[in-house]
Amino acid sequence: MTDPRFSGIGMTSLRTRDRLVQRLREQGIVNLVVLDRIRNLPRHIFVDEALASRAYEDTALPIGFGQTISQTYIVARMTEALLEGPPLKRVLEVGTGCGYQTAVLAPLVERIYSIERIDGLQKRARARLKELDVRNVRFKVGDGSLGWRSQAPFDGILVAAAPLVVPEELIEQLAVGGRLVVPAGPEGRQQLLRIVRHEEGVEQKVLGAVSFVPLVGGVG
Ligand code: SAH
Repeated sequence: MTDPRFSGIGMTSLRTRDRLVQRLREQGIVNLVVLDRIRNLPRHIFVDEALASRAYEDTALPIGFGQTISQTYIVARMTEALLEGPPLKRVLEVGTGCGYQTAVLAPLVERIYSIERIDGLQKRARARLKELDVRNVRFKVGDGSLGWRSQAPFDGILVAAAPLVVPEELIEQLAVGGRLVVPAGPEGRQQLLRIVRHEEGVEQKVLGAVSFVPLVGGVG
């Protein structure tokens, strides 16, 4: 990329991203494809300019509309958990947010269908992904807890906001062998889950404690 805004300077440089990737390794992220994508993807363009110098701290940062960009470790962990298994063709993402998670995942799968309930957030995410030349994403404004029925089944579903209980609709829209990575539970007691759909029934694994914004019903 030649655009200087993308390469970044000082706190937004490639060296800063190298340090971020080193930290992710120390925290247990092992998938090299994921680490490499995070190293090569500028993160500062996804947050407000005033916060650009903090974009590589491993924290959640505000992205407007009362929402936050997910912590890099969580993005890496969820992406890794989703990729584990056969290659992913069709992926549903619930909660586009600023589009950072979408951008991390896009080159690693065939196609992403991304739903966000806040129109203004998705518009900005769309524009950023276009600038980054990410082209394999379809967007929709709506309630992601209902999934995207006309595009189902999905090989993978990634949910970036926490429902109290995993919506049945999402499990139903998984292909056989498909996996769903989703945080669930009440505030302060959320767990990150990896659910795999089999011919008969589903298998669920708890990946650890997490803290996400709640998955909200309806379009805001
Ligand atoms: N991965 C995103 C995370 C954004 S936070 C990023 O890196 O920026 C979670 C997002 O989920 C918010 O943008 C919020 O508006 C959205 N969200 C919450 N409930 C939703 C729902 N029912 N359907 C679609 N999006 C929802």
